[in-house]
Amino acid sequence: MSLLLPDRLTHRRQPRNDGASSETPARADQPGHRTDSADPAPDGRRVAPMLFIDLDAVTANVRTIGARTDAEVMAVVKADGFGHGMTAVAVAAIAGGATRFGVTSIAEALELRRAGFTQRVLSWLNPVHVDVTPAVAAQIELAVPGVEHLAVVCQAARAFGTGLTVVTGRAQARIHLQLDTAMARDGASPDVWPELCRAARLAEIDGVVEVVGVMGHLPCAATPGDPANERGKRLFDWGVRVARDAGLSPTDRHLAATAATLTDPASHHTLCRVGAGLVGIDESGTTRLSHALTLTAPLVSVRAVAAGTGVGYGHTWTAPVATRLGLIPLGYADGLPRAATGRAAVLVTGVRRPLVGRISMDSAVVDLGSDSTVEIGDIVTVFGPGTGARAHAPTTADWARWADTLEHEIVTGLGPRIARRVGRPE
Ligand SMILES: *Cc1c(COP(=O)(O)O)cnc(C)c1O
Repeated sequence: MSLLLPDRLTHRRQPRNDGASSETPARADQPGHRTDSADPAPDGRRVAPMLFIDLDAVTANVRTIGARTDAEVMAVVKADGFGHGMTAVAVAAIAGGATRFGVTSIAEALELRRAGFTQRVLSWLNPVHVDVTPAVAAQIELAVPGVEHLAVVCQAARAFGTGLTVVTGRAQARIHLQLDTAMARDGASPDVWPELCRAARLAEIDGVVEVVGVMGHLPCAATPGDPANERGKRLFDWGVRVARDAGLSPTDRHLAATAATLTDPASHHTLCRVGAGLVGIDESGTTRLSHALTLTAPLVSVRAVAAGTGVGYGHTWTAPVATRLGLIPLGYADGLPRAATGRAAVLVTGVRRPLVGRISMDSAVVDLGSDSTVEIGDIVTVFGPGTGARAHAPTTADWARWADTLEHEIVTGLGPRIARRVGRPE
């Protein structure tokens, strides 16, 4: 790996009693991340939940996905690397063969630069009035979905780089024109696309910007064969022709995200933008990728209750027989969806045990069973990768199903109170 690991990834802590394979906190230096809670109690037992992030899984996923395409792979590390830690995921993705990054804000792009990444970075979904000057200065590429955006980027590029074009032979701002390919979300609508292409060509001739790419995004890629994808692909091909007719030479032509990368080679063009797939999520359900997260939590209290005991807010669950209940210090403020109440389970000494009563803000209750021998301080697995030592633990896919949502929401919703550590639990 040519990149030096950012400090935060190489900072090693004292070994802990839970046998993690690596002791590196993923986001130790970010405000709001209570890494102190990772410290064990005076008696050596863990007292706080811990999210383990297996970066080898990320690297393996990028290899698997890269083998499916001849196109370049962009690692989309938005939303803090899909909740896995942006810079950590970025390092792992490059190790697996990704060549550059995609993000959805200038702040994220600048964070990558600050962490020392020198690869190309593309930022999209920026509001039209955002200050793009820092992005231009840091050689961040920008998606341009309309003529107003183009004007803002041109202005920043002019202000920043007067005269430098002559020296470097390169315009100050590199842009990707973004076409709305049947999403109706971002991107220029087809009726203004020819005008955008003409305006961008004029700006190129002026030496202000360089149009290095044309991009689109498919609405229904998780359902291969959906007619909306065909419409999106036809629109994209049309958009590239219009750009070329306007005199542009976009060398990056990109339409596919994870699902299309895995299912539809006709969508690959020169570059695939892979986000969810980095962290093992395949919405198309076609490919076995590796999940990277394991969330564990200690039982912070254990109590025996009689049959008929109501549990939690609203007494939505009443113990049908005498049992033992355990409390884990995780709730919906930490990203355990309250909507999973009544369906969710965790792994306790190798067996799935149900969460009972409502998941509350900071805690949830496990029905351990009347013959359970677990004690305060014992560790339960809230979810794991579905393989290895904790193969029986729920996965983030299970949690998504229980909450009637998608895995993306589970992994990006894990709160800042949870301590993070790179590696696999024992
Ligand atoms: C988030 C995003 C991606 C990555 O999508 P995945 O399905 O997570 O791979 C690609 N392109 C755009 C425009 C996005 O916003």
